[in-house]
Amino acid sequence: MTTRKPSTRLIHTRGTRLDPPTVNPPLERASTVIFSDPEALYSRKPGYGRMGLGVHRELEAGLATLEGAEHVRLTMNGLSAAALAIGSVLDSGDHALVQDSIYGPTRRFCERRLKAMGISITRFPTRADAAALAAQIRPETKAIILESPGSLTFELPDTQMMVGLAAEHGLITILDNTWGAGLFHRPLALGVDISVQALTKYVVGHADSFGGAVMTRRADLAAKIEACSDDWGIALGPEEAYTALRGLRTLETRLARHQESGLALAEWLAARPEVARVIHPALPDHPDHALWERDFTGSCGLFGVVLNPVPEAKLNAMLSALELFGMGFSWGGYESLIIPCDAQLNRAFAPEPPFEGPLLRIHAGLEAVEDLEADLDQAFARLT
Ligand SMILES: *Cc1c(COP(=O)(O)O)cnc(C)c1O
Repeated sequence: MTTRKPSTRLIHTRGTRLDPPTVNPPLERASTVIFSDPEALYSRKPGYGRMGLGVHRELEAGLATLEGAEHVRLTMNGLSAAALAIGSVLDSGDHALVQDSIYGPTRRFCERRLKAMGISITRFPTRADAAALAAQIRPETKAIILESPGSLTFELPDTQMMVGLAAEHGLITILDNTWGAGLFHRPLALGVDISVQALTKYVVGHADSFGGAVMTRRADLAAKIEACSDDWGIALGPEEAYTALRGLRTLETRLARHQESGLALAEWLAARPEVARVIHPALPDHPDHALWERDFTGSCGLFGVVLNPVPEAKLNAMLSALELFGMGFSWGGYESLIIPCDAQLNRAFAPEPPFEGPLLRIHAGLEAVEDLEADLDQAFARLT
């Protein structure tokens, strides 16, 4: 069974089926579960819809396969998954090291909510080396919080170095794996303790619902995550779980196309006079390309583009002229997206090397790549 390829295993995650069976599991829209005897009422699990029902169990099994996890906890979106993972392993008085380029709202959780819980943090530049990081570790340091590649700026932390450092100092490593989606990056196999995904992005894949997952191989951490999730009442609704499970079936097929189009667009953009530089970890000129080659088996459709300096009005005219690229937050769906990022870049450490002009983030969707290039080409005419 384990020798089967991911596409096969993600399609055959058979859980509960009707009799006679349907291809898909039945969707249980239920808060209340009915029991026939009082003993079962208090002993049988799941005893209540908040704990998840059949569709949730099948989604958990699929995600365990995807990430090589033993324990999966579902949450209502990616941000709650990151907050649950971080919040469940830290206590009042603890300290955590936080990668500067993690997803902005997760960083805000660390700065605002952890602080309110009596937990202190130190932000570190994504490319910090072992000596610089070790110098920040205190007796009360408990965790290193990572994301690979970092949001918007796409730097890669040296995850294997961080895992070694964590082992030496007894720290827990948590990594947001939304970009790699579990297919192109398997942090748990690299020794990371907890992997987090915003299922909202590639797993759901159609920009039509939210979901999050916290995954680990460690039973001790799974118990903490479960307790914290129960205490905070974190749960994923059945319809959202269903869309995530449906997305899993086609994840590998869709990502192959996102990867191909992302690379084609990145290379096309790199050759354009309007573009100062493309930031795509799979391109050989990316500063962390060697780390990407070591730790990843592929790349998704999301990458950065730095334009040559241009007046804001022309940049805005270019963005407004795009017909196929939607301007909006989130990514991972079938449609191509673009956003200007400068307004969101509120970092403790300046980008290295400094950006020549405005930073854009592009998500290559599933449209024909020739049409996407033609759309960018006509919009770029507004830049001159
Ligand atoms: C979008 C995103 C999240 C948050 O996911 P939501 O489902 O929108 O809450 C977390 N981490 C990363 C890296 C993301 O891109």
